[in-house]
Amino acid sequence: MGLNRRSFLLGSGLTAAGLVGSWLGEADRAEAAPLKVNTAIQADETPRSCQPQDPLAALLEGNERFAAAWQSNNTATTMAARAEAMSSLWTKGCYLPGDTLTTGQAPWASILSCADSRVSPEWIFDAAPADLFVIRSAGNTAFDNAIASLEFGVATLHTPLIMVMGHSDCGAVKAARDSAPLTPLLEQLVKPIRASLSPENTLATAIKRNAGFAAKQLTQRSRVLADAEVDGRLTIVVSYFDIRSGKVSLV
Ligand SMILES: [Zn+2]
Repeated sequence: MGLNRRSFLLGSGLTAAGLVGSWLGEADRAEAAPLKVNTAIQADETPRSCQPQDPLAALLEGNERFAAAWQSNNTATTMAARAEAMSSLWTKGCYLPGDTLTTGQAPWASILSCADSRVSPEWIFDAAPADLFVIRSAGNTAFDNAIASLEFGVATLHTPLIMVMGHSDCGAVKAARDSAPLTPLLEQLVKPIRASLSPENTLATAIKRNAGFAAKQLTQRSRVLADAEVDGRLTIVVSYFDIRSGKVSLV
């Protein structure tokens, strides 16, 4: 599906047995396991080596892996079985070594998502370190700092995709729909969410509308993001994450 994942590089022939051999007697040497040392650095490898050809497809493929593991976790009856279900994650990604990533970053998608503890983008998209540029706040709102961060992602890091992701059971949207008193700062937080709401909307619809409203704000309030979208350097999409199924659907 257009991922063009870099195949992992195998070692240069060094073995752990060879490295530790000088420390051991002959008898110990015979027992030493022939462990391979993975010298995974290649001369032409850069932080951009893991960029997929189709970032949106890569996100959705990663989410398919997460949802499959999550649904196995949901039906497992013991803690050990749940851990086993989730252990299938982080095995298919494109991983770069720290020596390469100290030279820079080239995330291939930016995610504006909620701070909710159940909505971690790196998990939801089965992503590797350095894949995603993530901005989170309760209600996935396009606050000034969020937009500025996304501008940095697009203008400096050349991130080609922004996904604004709402999620089921969003407490920030529920608070915005409610009339219960909030602290002054929480009132500020829900104010832009309230601007996206209609009284007749269900919670799920309100969450999707709020994510769509935030996505529109990005280009309405940022010339950098608007120009990048017009030039074809940036795609902005809206999605909805369902906590029970683990699935992300485009809105
Ligand atoms: Zn939320």
